[in-house]
Amino acid sequence: MKKIVLASNNKHKLIEIKEILNPLGFDVLSLSDINFNEDIIEDGKTFKENALIKARAVRNKTNLPVIADDSGLCVDILNGDPGVHSHRYSGINATDKENRVKLIDVLSKLDGPYKAHFTSSIAYIDDNREFVKEGYVYGEIILEERGENGFGYDSIFYLKEYSKTMAELDPSIKNSISHRHNALIEFVKELINEDSSIL
Ligand code: IMP
Repeated sequence: MKKIVLASNNKHKLIEIKEILNPLGFDVLSLSDINFNEDIIEDGKTFKENALIKARAVRNKTNLPVIADDSGLCVDILNGDPGVHSHRYSGINATDKENRVKLIDVLSKLDGPYKAHFTSSIAYIDDNREFVKEGYVYGEIILEERGENGFGYDSIFYLKEYSKTMAELDPSIKNSISHRHNALIEFVKELINEDSSIL
């Protein structure tokens, strides 16, 4: 197994990324596994910039390869908001629930349907390279919560193909169609492209 550190304290992301990368031969370590406990200031203007900020900060403290995910929800009618502010849409220490309530409130004053997509930017750094890959999943926001799985905006992100929200999907299905999955597949392809013996 190839060891790789995930530059995130989000336990949901850690679980999802482990589930996607373990079968591909990666042993995903958390920040606590490498005793990293600094705060990282994510002040980039794009998902890509923020993913690189996180990956570089952690790579400064370890010789292991590092991966970072910066992700969020972009709503068309809100010109891409909450975007890079998804985590703190309703305030600096907002809970996922408070962020969903704010989004529902904002959208309820506008005409639907509310087309949206999740983006995930995956930054990777090792001894030889640094690159970023992106993945997306498209759906629409509904104004009432449905489902218990997942996190963040999953319970209001509706997928027509499944007639379910992301939070109603079995986690293994979410992890096979999500923005994070799609970005991780691009990341793995890039690694294999450069060095087919990597896995
Ligand atoms: P980050 O930790 O700065 O990348 O913030 C990501 C934020 O985007 C999360 O706190 C969620 O609000 C939202 N988000 C990212 N990925 C997902 C997902 O898979 N489902 C639901 N919300 C997500």
